[in-house]
Parts: sequence; C-alpha cells; structure tokens
Amino acid sequence: MKCLILGGAGFIGSHLAEELLAAGHQVKIFDRPNLLRPENLHTDPRIEWFEGDYLNQDDVAYAMPGVEILFHLISATLPKSSNENPLYDVESNIMGTLRVLDVAKKNHVKRVIFASSGGTVYGIPKTVPIAETHATEPLVSYGISKLAIEKYLHLYHTLHGMDYCVLRIANPFGERQRVSTAQGAVAVFLHHALHNQTIHIWGDGSVTRDYIYIKDVVHAFIKALSYTGEQRVFNIGSGHGLSLNDILAAIESLLGKPVQRSYEPSRSFDVPVNVLDITCARTQLGWQPAGDFQHGLINTLLWMRQEQHVG
Ligand code: NAD
Repeated sequence: MKCLILGGAGFIGSHLAEELLAAGHQVKIFDRPNLLRPENLHTDPRIEWFEGDYLNQDDVAYAMPGVEILFHLISATLPKSSNENPLYDVESNIMGTLRVLDVAKKNHVKRVIFASSGGTVYGIPKTVPIAETHATEPLVSYGISKLAIEKYLHLYHTLHGMDYCVLRIANPFGERQRVSTAQGAVAVFLHHALHNQTIHIWGDGSVTRDYIYIKDVVHAFIKALSYTGEQRVFNIGSGHGLSLNDILAAIESLLGKPVQRSYEPSRSFDVPVNVLDITCARTQLGWQPAGDFQHGLINTLLWMRQEQHVG
C-alpha cells in the first residue's frame, strides 16, 4: 500500500515507518522542516520525505497524491499543557485535521488511521479496565480534541465513504521516546535514573497507567491497515496497570541501585487510574501485545545507554 505518515519523524511514527517498510509498503513521511530525522530512517532511500506545517493545506496537499492509507500521528499539543490554551488546542488539532481530511478526500485516500488517546478520552473511569463503550468525559482539552476528531472521521466516512480506524493508545514507551516533552514516565524516569538526577513525581506515586511497548503499538497500526471489519475504535494498551512507584521499583531492580525521588503535590487533571480493556483489539484486529513490561524496559534502557553514552 502507498502510505503517508503525518508526524512520521516522531516517536511512534519513526517505529511505524520502519515496520511498514519491513512489510513491503511504500512510505512517505510528512513532518516539520529542518528536523533532526530519526536515526533509523534518515538514510533510508525508500522513504519519500515531505517537510511543512500540517496546518498549511498546501503543504499537506503536496504530499497526498497517490496515497492510499493516511496515518495521522500529529498532535500540536500535549495533554498536560492543552488546558492552558484550549482555543489553540482546537484550532491546531481539530481545524488542522479537518483541513487534512479535505485534502485526503480530494485525493481519494482509502483509509485514515488516527492516533487517539486511551489515556485521556475517558476521564475518571467508572469501571476498570476501560472498554471502548465506556463514557467519555475528558479532563483535558487534548482529549476533547481527540474525541472530536474521531467524530469527524465518522462523519467523513458517512458523507464521503472515506474509511477510517481509530487507535486509542494508552501510554507507549520505548526507544526514541523524547525525554524533553516529559510525556512518557518510563523514558523520563530512566533518563533521570541513569544521570543520577532526582525524579519528581506528582502525587504519592500511586497514579496507575497502562504502559505499552512501542513495538506492540506499531503492530496494532499494521493490523489496522488491513482490517476489514465494522469496528472503528480500538483501545491499544497492555490491559495491565502499573503505578509510578511500580515503575520506579522496576527501574531500581534493573539498574541495581536506588533512584532519588521527590513527591510533589498531585495535579487536578491526572486521573488516578487508567487501564484499558483490549478485548476488542484482540478479537477484531487479531492483535495483542507480544512482550511484557520488563522486556520493553530492558530494550529502552539498552537504547538509552547507547544513545546517551551513560553506564
Ligand atoms: P511525537 O511528538 O514524537 O511525534 C509527532 C510528530 O508530529 C513530531 O515529529 C512533530 O514534529 C510532528 N508535528 C507536530 N506538529 C506538526 C506540524 N504542525 N506540522 C508538521 N509536523 C508536526 O509524538 P508521538 O508520541 O509519536 O505521538 C504521535 C501521536 O500519537 C500523537 O497524535 C499523539 O497525540 C498520539 N498519542 C501519543 C501518546 C504518547 O504518550 N506518546 C499516547 C497516546 C496518543
């Protein structure tokens, strides 16, 4: 298939591109100009690169001709900061996506596969693990925008026949996750532990999340590419919860040393627990995580040691 990954130079996108190429698909990547391209992709001659701002319809239109499958992996905001400026969140994510969908429609793209957020769309869960049918009450603008985009994908499907699939991803971690955005606890904690820096934790460390290794996430995207069933929205997680304290304990055990930590006041938008029910992805997509948390943690540590030259 001819694939375009919006945000293909990012954490998830760079793994997805690698996997799509390995499966024999054609890959175009659209991302910001002048980026340091990921180390696994930057010299690969099979990839066609397009640089621009996805908020600019002309930039996106340049990359779209011939595309059959569009992977939408761009988000202009992060969960934690999106509440500071909901207007910008809506303008950049919802309006930006609608412009992209219009370009996709004009170019007869067959399917859009969208990276939504299993960690934010549900809000405080009434039942755990959380199924796709659970009520959606996001506590962050980012989650509201993700939901709105899901609804527009459904609308475009109904109005224009453009197929779509939504993956509500839990908390991915693994090689090439950026530490600077502080989005991923595993990467941030590992980085601080390796550099003997204090790890700052909001709350008492009991906040529980569903951590999923990046290679498993990417396999779900590959499954979504050829899925022919009726289900449109899938939770993609491990189905198991780990607290922040559990992660610290796993890192300490792996490194064989205690890590410095400091517990700070909790944040109002951090839901206490988020663990996804992945039954639907198992039964419909034929997908399930291949490894456990420890396996992913070891791979992440090996990569970080090599990348950052730390012992
Ligand atoms: P990332 O920041 O590593 O990658 C996103 C890419 O989009 C970056 O390379 C960035 O340069 C590009 N981008 C951002 N704004 C752009 C713009 N205006 N024009 C062109 N390119 C632009 O993020 P990620 O972790 O790979 O996440 C990918 C998607 O998955 C996002 O939509 C995110 O909301 C979603 N998601 C991520 C997580 C997570 O914890 N990483 C969890 C659930 C869902």
